[in-house]
Amino acid sequence: MAVLPREKTRMLFVGKVALGGGAPIPVQSMLTTSTRDIEGSLQQIIALEEVGCEIVRVAVESKRDLESFASICAGSPLPVVADIHFDYRLAIEAAKKGAAKLRINPGNIGSIDKVDAVIDAAGEAGIPVRIGVNSGSLEERVKTLESMNLATKMVVSVDFYAEHFKSRGFKDMVLSAKASDVNTTIEVYRMLSKSIPDFPLHLGVTEAGTTWQGSIRSAVGIGTLLAEGIGDTFRVSLTAEPEEEIRVSRALLATLNLGALDTATLISCPTCSRCKVDLIGMANQVEKRLATVKKPLKVAVMGCVVNGPGEAAEADIGVACGQGTGAIFAHGEVLYTVPEDHIIDALFNELQKLL
Ligand code: SF4
Repeated sequence: MAVLPREKTRMLFVGKVALGGGAPIPVQSMLTTSTRDIEGSLQQIIALEEVGCEIVRVAVESKRDLESFASICAGSPLPVVADIHFDYRLAIEAAKKGAAKLRINPGNIGSIDKVDAVIDAAGEAGIPVRIGVNSGSLEERVKTLESMNLATKMVVSVDFYAEHFKSRGFKDMVLSAKASDVNTTIEVYRMLSKSIPDFPLHLGVTEAGTTWQGSIRSAVGIGTLLAEGIGDTFRVSLTAEPEEEIRVSRALLATLNLGALDTATLISCPTCSRCKVDLIGMANQVEKRLATVKKPLKVAVMGCVVNGPGEAAEADIGVACGQGTGAIFAHGEVLYTVPEDHIIDALFNELQKLL
């Protein structure tokens, strides 16, 4: 598969995870557990790690969260980002308590002095900061710039803060400007990659919706940008369990052949009247079992032999079904035929030999 070119940004580290500078694109999610529930949060982090999450974000909402946040950072196998709104003092404390990165929206942190105090705290802790601008919470002075569209206003906001961070000698920053409108998101990030090309970009379509709708909107928004070489990390935001966000994220990367070198892919045909088996059920089962396969293998589930092996010739392993049977094939060559109820086991037996 063709490899896409990537825009070159500065490399920085979130814990041990490289971000930017052409590093493999790490995918992230945000915990849904209470930050005060240390055990539950760590369990969710482990579940996220198992499905391929590389960075987790945790909301720190009040002083009462800080001690448990420190315990989560200490016990987490993944680098933990402190997500802070409104109170700059929480960001300063989170930096001291083990955050691997801070995420702030400078527009709601208050005065520039407060932003400066966060920059200094991050500098002292040696951790990066994400300047995370959201379309819904632009600062007043930018919101009222009437001659500009929303995308341009967001770029103006990010630009201002990026320049300010730089003027204080702080360069370990990641930039994001999320909108819920996909076209605005694409426009903003295209502009950011030109106006501030040095710094890694965190992509995302915010309030994207449920797994079904949010996956489509994220695939279009984030996928378009990644296909253009823009973006160094991303979060697929879904109204769903965070593990779903990571499954979708990894599928997105695998689709573009970007970094997800341990993700298996299902190829399956849309079925038509030639199909004489329960291919939909079969494809769903295979997809579920493939989620645990950590290798970039392609498995094809095809409804008939007319087009099956030929159309899925790039698959490492596949099945082309007949009347209650399945011809197991590898790279387009049929190996043997099994009855319908043995197809999935046969596929995974063959797959096992490739792991
Ligand atoms: S592979 Fe066969 S069953 Fe599937 S869509 Fe093509 S012709 Fe129809």
